[in-house]
Amino acid sequence: MGEAPANETSGMNEQDMRLLAERFRDCAEIGPQSFWEFDRNFRYVYLSERGRQMYGVTNEQIIGGTRDEMVRDQIVPIDPEEWRRHEDDIKNRRPFRNFHYIRRRSDGSDMHILTSGKPFFDGEGTFCGYRGVSVDITEQVTAETRMRAAIEAIEDGFAYFDADERFVMCNSKYLDFYPEAGKILLPGTTFEDIVRNGVTRGFVVNTTPGIEEYVAARMRRFRAGDATFDGQIADGRWLRVQDRRTPDGGTASFRVDITDLKRREATLMREREQSDAANRAKTEFLSSVSHELRTPMNAILGFGQLLEQKGAQLSPEKISGFARHIVRSGQHLLDLIGDVLELSKIESCHATMKIENVAAASLIGDCVEMIEGRASEVGVTLIDRSDRALPPLITDSGRFRQIVLNLLSNAVKYNRPGGSVTIATHALDDGKVRVSVTDTGEGIPTDRQGQIFEPFNRLGREAGKIEGTGIGLYLTQRLVEWLGATIGFSSEPGTGSTFWVDFPAGQSAHEVAKPVPAPAATQVPVADGQVTVLYIEDNPLHRLLMEEIFANIGTMTLQTADSAERGLALIEECGPSLILMDIDLPGMSGFEALKRLKARPATASIPVIALTAGAADHDVDRGLAAGFGDYLTKPVEIGRLIAAIERLLGVVAAVQAGK
Ligand code: ADP
Repeated sequence: MGEAPANETSGMNEQDMRLLAERFRDCAEIGPQSFWEFDRNFRYVYLSERGRQMYGVTNEQIIGGTRDEMVRDQIVPIDPEEWRRHEDDIKNRRPFRNFHYIRRRSDGSDMHILTSGKPFFDGEGTFCGYRGVSVDITEQVTAETRMRAAIEAIEDGFAYFDADERFVMCNSKYLDFYPEAGKILLPGTTFEDIVRNGVTRGFVVNTTPGIEEYVAARMRRFRAGDATFDGQIADGRWLRVQDRRTPDGGTASFRVDITDLKRREATLMREREQSDAANRAKTEFLSSVSHELRTPMNAILGFGQLLEQKGAQLSPEKISGFARHIVRSGQHLLDLIGDVLELSKIESCHATMKIENVAAASLIGDCVEMIEGRASEVGVTLIDRSDRALPPLITDSGRFRQIVLNLLSNAVKYNRPGGSVTIATHALDDGKVRVSVTDTGEGIPTDRQGQIFEPFNRLGREAGKIEGTGIGLYLTQRLVEWLGATIGFSSEPGTGSTFWVDFPAGQSAHEVAKPVPAPAATQVPVADGQVTVLYIEDNPLHRLLMEEIFANIGTMTLQTADSAERGLALIEECGPSLILMDIDLPGMSGFEALKRLKARPATASIPVIALTAGAADHDVDRGLAAGFGDYLTKPVEIGRLIAAIERLLGVVAAVQAGK
């Protein structure tokens, strides 16, 4: 194989030379590399057997041909720049090492070759040619390509650092997390430099107390070889970072996007805090309810006990004074119960709300009518300035009424004799409709205005003459919230206040809900003379109370029965003009008894009034639908009871004053 350098072979005898040649031949045949040699004109003078196998050529085909002639068309440079540098090395007779190129076989498949070569010269330094080794690395490259594709397919970010903490490779997901870091993420860059660069340029969030402290802490984790922690990157995403030591001392570093998880965690946390706050508010509310209920109870039981103990020795004035306290406290207690029930109703069954297009002006007209009596009693004038041309509101008409009534009743209650209350509506710029109630009362003390919507807070009026529970505005505010409206107020102490509610406006006037007319009461003719009322009630105390009430009505006689069965049996005997019926009776219920009465021609026309403790709206609706002439709730309001009887019988009861 060509001329051997004179310095290595000089002084060798023939036997040494032969040995050297044998050694070279054996090594060339046994190893994975192919050996080659070009002469000064770049013609093949030698290609080892392994080389001929690699390229699939014979000595006859290759020896004497140039590399260009033999394989030019088959060479596929991987990087044109690298290829130019390689050609430049050869032109300048420089050695080259591990130059990687692709040789395309005739069947189209690629062979990856790694080649190294060095020029050789004669004794005078004249260039004689190149010798070198080439090795087929196709399998290695294929394996590496597969591995890269697998790493690329991982949904998480992945990077690998060698045992010297130098960057080797990463997948594109990793780069996606640090898009600006692409320039520094080059093979050979140390992890520490990469971290410092990232922190300095703000790729990671929360790097307190300082850059160097952060880098040192991050390096400690990296070097520990099994760190897992969460961090936030500049675009707001959260990553779970996992560094794992590999058997060769390198580090595989993963980045898992846990932004959704973090978001869910934050939402859960927020919800838990809100539910804790709601629970706390509920507990506080219940304890105030208990306190508020006990207060009137104290007066009722206290004066009641006094009457019980000293009834005989008390003057009639004292007795009627105590009774007045008991009635007033009882009334207050009832208001409280009503408000608390109302509140629990809106809290628990807002689903029963019927949101529809509602004509505000006509509802406001109804409310003004309802409050007029109370206003004139205290010398307050009601002024209705609601605009009839306003578009309809999207709301629940019942709740709307409740809200307006609450505001109107406060405006009347906290007014002054000769004062006025004005209710007005107007369209706002944002498409909403404002309903405002303005009074000429004392206003609300500035330092207490912040507490106005707190339950049971009467802003210092607890000891005053005006009765209230302190729950009306709280209730109103909840209703307003449920309806998607907003409430506000302004108040000038000494001059008056304005409360307003902004309701969402509806779309079209023709969809406005028509108010449902109340069913007309049945008027039953009654024979002249004494009227008999039959009261069916199982509770003896309630029967006793009713007997006392009827003892005051001169024109009516009361008969009682302690069950529906006995009541029905008594009808023929006493011939009642009207029946008062408890609902929740032992044995036959009030509903069943009513059904039987209506089914018999002799009794079908007797008006029946339900008198029961079932005070919910649906109880009342159900009762009226079943055919009761009226549905009154306990505790009995004597005035309402008498009015109902009068209405149903078409008579006027003679209430005997002072009896
Ligand atoms: P209540 O009237 O039963 O006390 P509210 O919740 O309706 O309860 O009102 C809470 C408190 O706000 C009242 O006790 C009163 O001090 C004050 N307030 C409400 N409306 C007015 C008003 N129009 N003018 C002056 N004060 C008012």
